[in-house]
Amino acid sequence: MNPTLAIHGGAGTMPPGSMDPAAYRAGLHRALMAGHKILAADGPAIEAVTAAVVALEDDPLFNAGRGAVFTRDGQHEMDAAVMDGATLGIGAVAGICGPRNPVLAARATMEHSPHVLLVGLGALDFLRAHGVAFAEPGYFDTPGRREALRTMLAAEASFSADLDDADRHGTVGAVALDRFGNLAAATSTGGMTGKLPGRVGDTPLAGAGTWADAACALSATGHGESFIRIAAGHELSARMRLAHEDLDTAAAAVMAALAAVGGTGGFVAIDRTGRVSLPFNTRGMYRGFVHADGAAWTGIYQEAMQAWS
Ligand code: ASP
Repeated sequence: MNPTLAIHGGAGTMPPGSMDPAAYRAGLHRALMAGHKILAADGPAIEAVTAAVVALEDDPLFNAGRGAVFTRDGQHEMDAAVMDGATLGIGAVAGICGPRNPVLAARATMEHSPHVLLVGLGALDFLRAHGVAFAEPGYFDTPGRREALRTMLAAEASFSADLDDADRHGTVGAVALDRFGNLAAATSTGGMTGKLPGRVGDTPLAGAGTWADAACALSATGHGESFIRIAAGHELSARMRLAHEDLDTAAAAVMAALAAVGGTGGFVAIDRTGRVSLPFNTRGMYRGFVHADGAAWTGIYQEAMQAWS
């Protein structure tokens, strides 16, 4: 087996000049190394994707954990999911604010509850009872995200151009293949700036924005409602298992289905040979992958990926 990890940090237009590409690449690299360390020590894919997503959640540049976007009423409501392709184990949380790392809340749901998705006060009580670390008030707030909400509400009020989508959404995620041939996926998000309180996107919904089985693993970013409509994660797997499409062919078909419902975004996906596919239909998608030997690649715009072998 060829242990491999691929990650994303959100898709959008990312106008050059509005952000520091080096800082984003450094954040992606840190996350790749956090996951790679686990795979290189023959650790399981589910641990590697969790570690990579924790690193991205801790980085305020990305819309997950610290740096999550604000809802219309100025709150954070975070969604996250993990899925272990070896067991079809799933853990997810939606609309929560409290746990410092929502992906660890998703892991706790998978490992310690008989359920796959927890929301509301019950979720927070459960997570506290299982020792998941909570953040201090204000931890998730960042000035840039607050400004993004102000800009969006002002644009709406004046019927002027909408917020750039780089400020509106984003998500982080990871997929991995481990030494034993098992696949896993993890995704975490603050959702979309100015979303209605109570809105849940594709991220915590297994089969939509997060999926892993014996054929492939996928983590998505972009307009969540569209990814839910096409059941993106399950569609990728179904095409590979039932129509015997290879990863790239199936990924292209999923992107076509996304476009057909007017959706924007992209995803990272991996198959059981360690091949990765990182398609998107926005101007850019923060993304990267690392091979078994530790060689890492990161990209933001349409840079060509390096050869596989
Ligand atoms: N897919 C996420 C959501 O809809 C947002 C994003 O990835 O930009 O919640």
